Amino acid sequence: MKLAVIGTGYVGLVTGVGFAEMGHHVTCIDVDKAKIAKLSAGQPTIYEPGLEELMKRNQKEGRLSFSGSYEAAVESEASFIAVGTPPGEDGSADLTYVLKAAASIGDELTKASKDNPLPPKLVINKSTVPVGTAHKVKEAVASVYSGAFEVVSNPEFLREGTAVGDVLKPDRVVIGIQTKEAEAKMRELYRPFETTILVTDPTSAELIKYASNSLLATEISFINLLSRLAAKTGADITQVAAGIKLDKRIGPNAFLSAGPGYGGSCFPKDVQALAKTLAEYQVDTTFLDAVEQVNADQRVMVAELANELLKDTDNPRVALWGLAFKANTDDVRMSPALDIARLLMRRKDIHIIGYDPEAEVTTRAALPELKLADSSEEAIAGADLLLILTDWSEFKQPDLAVMAKKMRSPRIVDARNLYDPAEARAAGFEYRSIGRA
Ligand code: NAD
Repeated sequence: MKLAVIGTGYVGLVTGVGFAEMGHHVTCIDVDKAKIAKLSAGQPTIYEPGLEELMKRNQKEGRLSFSGSYEAAVESEASFIAVGTPPGEDGSADLTYVLKAAASIGDELTKASKDNPLPPKLVINKSTVPVGTAHKVKEAVASVYSGAFEVVSNPEFLREGTAVGDVLKPDRVVIGIQTKEAEAKMRELYRPFETTILVTDPTSAELIKYASNSLLATEISFINLLSRLAAKTGADITQVAAGIKLDKRIGPNAFLSAGPGYGGSCFPKDVQALAKTLAEYQVDTTFLDAVEQVNADQRVMVAELANELLKDTDNPRVALWGLAFKANTDDVRMSPALDIARLLMRRKDIHIIGYDPEAEVTTRAALPELKLADSSEEAIAGADLLLILTDWSEFKQPDLAVMAKKMRSPRIVDARNLYDPAEARAAGFEYRSIGRA
């Protein structure tokens, strides 16, 4: 099928590449001309493992192209909307970009159908949007285009860091449709993918996405809350989590990793947006408010652990390992690492130097005042404290004794529980982690 994908961010780009890999002909469209120029030259604009090779191959084989114009929406049977839905000032999802993209599709279809009517089109929403958005997208297109089209809700569940695999082999595909014709087209589109397809109405599809992310965020806040009890009672939160996951009703993939709290461009905004929708319909928000509060407090708790270890040190030097909101991505949006860096910077005599294997460019844009090192070793040289904030695999098995010698005072706050506390202490570190003695 010929497809257009609007928006070339984490979702749009990987989705476009994934559909091309499955044999469809895809044009990815973005209003950001610099991104289109870079992508057309075969350079990915984000870091995502495995993406570059797949992108280049599909470009070379003629199934994938990039454009700054919406023209491709005319030829395409389906146009995916995969633009951002950032939180508005009150926390509700800002639909400006989605509705603008919808209107731009409509404009282009209108121009092209002046003389000859076009065959029916699908406008498929992949962005994460509140209930009722399918209807708004329909209105946005219909306000400029009078031809036949249907709006489909097809939320995306990919995770940054494993996005390529998640798109090529999704756990499930949710399709919110209103007609059998749209269902048949969507099934055809996803035929090359081996996955479970759930067909629902558009509103349920929209809600499934927010419900999934909010439940995952709840698991994280739940285990983080318990980690505080574990720290006070001498229990080990990693063992507690291992015990919970053996329950088949919960399972080994439950999101029960205690740490600095969830971040990224999805969980924080999606929990907030769902809370806003609940409030709008006069449904109690207590539950999600607590999830958010625990998450905010967790960042403060990590910063306090660091401050506690540094209380007798003047002009302390602190190394931060990991700035991305999680491993295997360059995304620092709502990253706990940057929030914790900001909290530490409140101390006037502190010198902080950060390091991340992939998030240098994004960090420079988000927090220009943070000094960056070129390597993990450079960051810890002469430091009084190392704070580990992202679980990159390159941080997982260092020679702790060598590390301790490089630092001025060997101290670690391990907010990702990467090391064995006994080993770290045996190597000479004063060591704190999350929910473990
Ligand atoms: P992003 O910010 O990385 O990318 C959005 C892109 O859309 C940008 O390149 C921007 O230039 C482009 N854009 C904005 N307005 C446009 C317009 N009118 N026409 C064409 N292009 C336009 O966003 P993202 O992280 O890819 O997220 C996109 C959506 O998918 C959001 O709703 C998000 O919640 C959802 N989502 C994200 C993830 C994730 O892990 N990032 C996972 C699942 C779902």
